[in-house]
Amino acid sequence: MSRIHVLSPQLANQIAAGEVVERPSSVVKELLENALDAGARRIELDIEGGGLKLIRLSDDGSGIARDDLPLSLSRHATSKIQSLDDLEAVATLGFRGEALASISSVSRLVLTSREISADTAFKVSAEGRDMLPAVAPAAHPVGTSVEVRDLFFNTPARRKFLRTEKTEFAHIEEVVKRQALSRFDVGFVLRHNQRVVHQLPPAVSPVEQERRIGQLCGAQFMQNAILIEHEASGLKLHGWVALPAFSRSQADLQYFFVNQRVIRDKLVAHAIKQAYRDVLYHGRHPAFVLYLALDPGVVDVNVHPTKHEVRFRDGRLVHDFIFRSLHRALAEVRPQDTLSGSTGASLVASTDAGSTPAAMAQSPLQLSVATDTGEPFRTLGLPVTPSAGMIRDQIRGYGALHPEVTAASVASRAPQDQPSAEESEMPPLGFAIAQLHGIYVLAQNSLGLVLVDMHAAHERITYERLKKAYYARAMSVQPLLVPLSLTVSAREAALAEEHNEALTTLGLLVERIGPELLLIRQIPAMLSQSDVAKLVRDVLADLFVLGSSDRLEARVNELLATMACHGSVRANRQLTLAEMNRLLRDMEVTERSGQCNHGRPTWTQLSMAELDKLFLRGR
Ligand code: ADP
Ligand code: MG
Repeated sequence: MSRIHVLSPQLANQIAAGEVVERPSSVVKELLENALDAGARRIELDIEGGGLKLIRLSDDGSGIARDDLPLSLSRHATSKIQSLDDLEAVATLGFRGEALASISSVSRLVLTSREISADTAFKVSAEGRDMLPAVAPAAHPVGTSVEVRDLFFNTPARRKFLRTEKTEFAHIEEVVKRQALSRFDVGFVLRHNQRVVHQLPPAVSPVEQERRIGQLCGAQFMQNAILIEHEASGLKLHGWVALPAFSRSQADLQYFFVNQRVIRDKLVAHAIKQAYRDVLYHGRHPAFVLYLALDPGVVDVNVHPTKHEVRFRDGRLVHDFIFRSLHRALAEVRPQDTLSGSTGASLVASTDAGSTPAAMAQSPLQLSVATDTGEPFRTLGLPVTPSAGMIRDQIRGYGALHPEVTAASVASRAPQDQPSAEESEMPPLGFAIAQLHGIYVLAQNSLGLVLVDMHAAHERITYERLKKAYYARAMSVQPLLVPLSLTVSAREAALAEEHNEALTTLGLLVERIGPELLLIRQIPAMLSQSDVAKLVRDVLADLFVLGSSDRLEARVNELLATMACHGSVRANRQLTLAEMNRLLRDMEVTERSGQCNHGRPTWTQLSMAELDKLFLRGR
C-alpha cells in the first residue's frame, strides 16, 4: 500500500460531486436554490441538450461581491451559516457550501455577478482547475448568472449513466416544477433548446396560485382538489389534496414541502397513505400539493447531501397531525361539496343524525322506509352542522348550482313521493326516478342526471355506520331467536375460539360446540338481513389471513368492511323510489360516500350541459 496523502482540492471536489451532482437536474436544483437564497424574484433558466450541453440560470438576486467570487467556487465556503447554532435553525435552502465547488469540478463553469452596490459586474470561470479562478470585469445587471457547459466532460464514467436528452430534461422540468410550487412569489421561465417550456409570472393572489398549480399539475388536478388548511400545536398544514376518485396509477403527483423545502420523507408518506387508506382503490396513488410549516428548530435538514430528507424532532406528532388533518378533510367531503363549488350558500343542510347508533338500531338495513311519505326527506331542513359548512367553504369544486330548480319541477315522480312544501328544496343528489338493471339508481338533481352504484354506495354507508358503532362501543346486536349451527373446518373452529373476544366486540357471539361445529347466537343488528352463515365464514377467513390478535386490532376496519359488504343491498334487488331516496339522503350525510370501501366511485353526475353535448343540442 502507498503512503497516506491529502487529496487535492480538485479530487476532493470531484468525489463530493458524486453525491451532489448525479445528473443535470441536480445542477439545476442547486442553482435554483442559490438564486432563491439570494432573494431572487425572477429566475430564467436556459437548457440545451437536456442540460448536458448547457445549463444557464440568471437571477435578479443580491449578487456576489467581487472579492467573494473566487471563494464562491471553493469547497466549504458559504455565506449562509457561521456556526453550528445557525445550522440548528437554518432558513436558507443551501448551507453546505459545496454545490458550486462540486459542479465546477465536473463541468466548464462561468459565474457572472453584480452586487446591488457595485457599478460593474465581474465573472469567474473554472474548468475543474485546482487554483483559485481569475476574476475579470463583465457586463451583467444586478444579480447572478451561472453557466454550466459540458457537464461530466472530465468524468466519463458519470456520463455513461445519463439517459436521453428528453429524459434528462424531464428530470430538470420536475425540479423546476417543485421550486415553482414552493415559491409562488417568484417568477420562473424555463426554456429548452430556445423554446419556452414554462413561463410562470409571480402568483400572489389565491386565484393566481391555483392557476400556477393548474399549469404545473394539470387543470384536472385543480378541479378535483380540496383545499386544506389546518393548524395545531405549532404545526401548520395547507395545500391541495385530490379527491380519491382522482387517484393516479403512479406516485407522480405528490409534492410535499417542509418550510418551503421539497422533501421526500417516509414518515410523511406513511401519514398521507394512511389518511387515504379507507378511500383509495387498491394500488392507486393519491395526488397532492401540501405545505407544512413549523419552527425550523424542530426539524433537522442536514440529513442528506441533497437535502431531500429531513428529520423531525417529534416525528410522531408530525405524523399524527398530517394524518388527522387529511383524514378529516377527506371524510368530510359530501356529494354536495363536489357539486357545488364555492356557490354553496343555498345548499341543503346535512346532518349526522341519520348515522348515530340509535338511528342504526331503528332499521337494520337502513333502506326500509316508514309509511309516512315524508320519511325519505327527514334529514333535510335541519340546521347546517359546522363541519359541513366549514368544509364547503374549503372546497373548490366545479359546476354551478341552480337553487331555483325545486323538487316540484322534477318530473315523472309518483305524487306520494313529492316532499311537502317546506321540504321542497332540491337535495344535492336530487330525487330518484328509476332503477336501472337492478344495479344503478337514476336520480334527477338541479344539475341534471345523477347515477348511483347502489351496492357500492350502500356498502360505504353500512361500513361507516359499523365503524362509528364499533369505535363508540355501541354496536347494537341482535340475538338470533334460533341460534344457527354452522359446520366449519377444525381450523376455523379453533380460530373462532381463539378470537372469541374480538368477535364479540364485532357484535358476533360465536360458540364452539364441537370440533367442527359452531353455534352463532347473535349478530350485529345492522346485518340482521344478511346471510349469517356466509358472514361468519367470511369473517373467519379474514381472521385466518390476519393471524394474531394485535394485527386484528390494527385491521379491524378490514373486518368491518367485510361485514359491511354482507349488510349491503345486492344487485338485482328491486328498490322502491322511497328506498332509493333514502339511499341518496344517506349518502349526503355519510363520510367518504364518494367511494365504496374499495375506493371505487359510488356515484357520478351527468349535467344537462354534458347531456346536451351528447345530443348536439345547442342551449
Ligand atoms: P451554499 O449554497 O451551500 O452556501 P454554494 O456552493 O451553492 O453553497 O454557494 C456558495 C456561495 O456562493 C453561497 O453561500 C452564496 O454566498 C454564493 N452564491 C451562489 N449562488 C449565488 C447566487 N445565485 N446569488 C448570490 N450568491 C450566490
Ligand atoms: Mg447552494
